[in-house]
This record gives sequence, structure tokens and C-alpha cells, in this order.
Amino acid sequence: MTNPLSVSRDTFNDVMVPNYAPSAVIPVKGEGSRVWDQQGKEYVDFAGGIAVNCLGHCHPALVTALTEQGQKLWHLSNVMTNEPALRLASKLVDATFADKVYFANSGAEANEAALKLARRHALEKHGEHKNQIIAFNQGFHGRTFFTVSVGGQAIYSDGFGPKPGAIDHINYNDIEAFKALISDNTCAVMMEPLQGEGGIIKAEPEFLRQVRALCDQHNALLIFDEVQTGMGRTGELYAYMGTDVVPDILTTAKALGGGFPIAAMLTTDEIAVSLKIGSHGSTYGGNPLACAIGEAVMDVVNQAPVLAGVKAKHELIKNGLNAINAKYKVFECVRGEGLLIGAVMNQDYQGKARDFMVAAVEQGLMCLIAGANVVRFTPSLVIPDEDIALGLERFEAAVAAVVNAS
Ligand SMILES: *Cc1c(COP(=O)(O)O)cnc(C)c1O
Repeated sequence: MTNPLSVSRDTFNDVMVPNYAPSAVIPVKGEGSRVWDQQGKEYVDFAGGIAVNCLGHCHPALVTALTEQGQKLWHLSNVMTNEPALRLASKLVDATFADKVYFANSGAEANEAALKLARRHALEKHGEHKNQIIAFNQGFHGRTFFTVSVGGQAIYSDGFGPKPGAIDHINYNDIEAFKALISDNTCAVMMEPLQGEGGIIKAEPEFLRQVRALCDQHNALLIFDEVQTGMGRTGELYAYMGTDVVPDILTTAKALGGGFPIAAMLTTDEIAVSLKIGSHGSTYGGNPLACAIGEAVMDVVNQAPVLAGVKAKHELIKNGLNAINAKYKVFECVRGEGLLIGAVMNQDYQGKARDFMVAAVEQGLMCLIAGANVVRFTPSLVIPDEDIALGLERFEAAVAAVVNAS
């Protein structure tokens, strides 16, 4: 074998489109909730590849699924179906409200399918007038043009010319605004049951109940984007299971593949019929390699002790962050569910979440932000308690560094 080309962070600026601003660190190896960079420095991973690596890095069950399927069959296209796709779909149907599954490769694609299905269903069942999509400010649904348009952040949707139409946004948890907007022209409501990118903000139970009731009253479909909250992240297999409401369509991605790209849209028999033969599709969606890994993820995650563990680990991290805050007074509150946790900056540190994230990397801890005011933690669902303790120790050192520098 020839020597691999030597690459560094500078190479990024030379050869990559400048849409990202990655950290100076280049990780080369991961195991469980630890990661090592090119220089051999070790990190505790509280970021999990943005809520994706739900079983940490290189979990043995996933390595086995990847290598076994990798030696059998990778890809066919949807001209033929395959065993791993059929098994994973059966398991998703068994575990949820859904009767039918459509596979895609990313969260945005699953949402694109959900939105197209909702529009087509309304058109067929009720007519052209029923096309309004209601969504929420600060919501995030992916980066395709339809999904950024439905997402509620102008920074992602503006500057690309004319957008898809008939999409209206209101504030999350504002039931009066919702009541005023919904009508028989509403085709669907798309929402995250807990806004992730928007700042780790939970939908109020009463808000959800009323949204569901009004959707029923107006024959509008309720779409839950569970791309970030799904696959055990909140301590339930899907976040809707911890609420009183059931959506009509649910999208799942991120943790579904544990780090391998796969996504799914789940729905009922009645709605699924509107995606007739040829109406939508994907070359890679539902390929055997991705589905074999998705099946392995689901087998490990959808177990009562693992889901209970997520809730227990939530307490450990929340208590640790509150203890740090008692000393340094930097957060207004710590919020979120399961292992989707946000530490919200107080008055003195407005707009400074990124400083804490950058200081954490310095101390050997990977974490995230959710907007300018929230430090976000989305570790592996099976992160060992010792790694939580070590990560919190390193985060405290990062907080001390930020506080002392300001
Ligand atoms: C990450 C995310 C998406 C987009 O998923 P991609 O795989 O990046 O396309 C959509 N919705 C939510 C809620 C997300 O967190």
C-alpha cells in the first residue's frame, strides 16, 4: 500500500467548500465515549456527533452488523427489496403507532418525504385548497429547500431565491397564535416535540394536546420531526411516547443508524396509500447495509434497562451542571429530557455559549451549542458513569477558564 496523503486542518481550507468552520482538532479514533485526535490527545465525547452516536463509537454490536452485512450485500436499489430493510421496518412498526415505513438517508430527506406525503394526501383527499403547512419559529427540519423553508430560522432559508409556498410560522408553545392560524386549509403541522437546534425547548403538554385536537378538528396531519429526539434520546424510544399525543407521521434519523446514514418516515396505512408507486423515491434509501446497522441499533436501544439508563444519566449530568453553576453562576437553568440537555447562559454570559464549547475542547471534552445561548450535551445513551464524571470535571475546568478570562 502507498503511504496515505498527509492531511491537517489547513487542508480543509485548501480543498473544502467553506460552509463549515470545523474545530482545529481532527479526531482519528473513537471507542465508547472517548475519542483521540491526530496528536493522540484524548477527549470525552458529550456531543455524540450531534445526537447521532447513540451507542458511542465503534460499539461491538454495530461493528458486527457492519462487517457481517458488509461481506454479504451492500446495495441493490429499490428495484428489489431486501431482508435487513424488511426486518428493520417490521421492528419500527411493532414498536410504534405506525403501520408503514419509508427509508431515506438523512433527516432532511425523511422530512422532505413527510411533507410531500402530507401535501399529496391532502390534495387527493380534500383538494387543492388544503395546502397550508404550519411550522414553528426556531424549528429545524434539515437543509433541503423544502425543509429549510418549513424550518423556522431565516439564517438557513434565506438567500436562495423563491421558496416553496403556503408555509406559515408561529411561536412554539403559543396556542392562541396556533388557534388563530389553523383552518380547513391546513394540510399539516410539522414540529419537533422538543426543539433541538432551536435551544432545547420542550413543547408544553397542554400545547401538544390542543395542537392534536385542532389538527383532528381540521383534518390536518400532525408530523413529529423526531430526527433528534428519536431512538431513545429522551429516555423513551420516541419522545411522543412520553406525551399524551400520537402523530400521524414521524420522522427519525440521527441515532437510528448510530453513525451510519439512515433515516425513516413512519406513518399509518391510511396516509401511506397516498405515496403511490413512482410518486417518491431514493436510490440509496433502505439499502441493506444501512438497514442492518439500524436493526442492530434498535435491538440494543429498545430495551427497558437502556431507556431507564438514559433517564438516570440525565440526572447525573443535570446535577453535575447545577453543581458547577452553584460555584460559577454562568447558567440561567439546565433543561431538556434524557440525554438531550441544554445549559442556558444567564444575563452575564449572553451570546457566549460558543466560548464554553471551545474551552471544553481545550480541556478534553467535546460538547455542542444550540444557538448562541445554550451549551448542548448529547452523549451516547450508554455512556459509562465514570465518563460522565470525567466529562463533568473537564467541563468545570472549561467553565473556570471562561469565567477567569472574562
Ligand atoms: C439534524 C436534524 C434534522 C436534519 O437531519 P440531517 O440528517 O442533517 O438531514 C432534521 N430535523 C431535526 C429535528 C434535526 O435535529
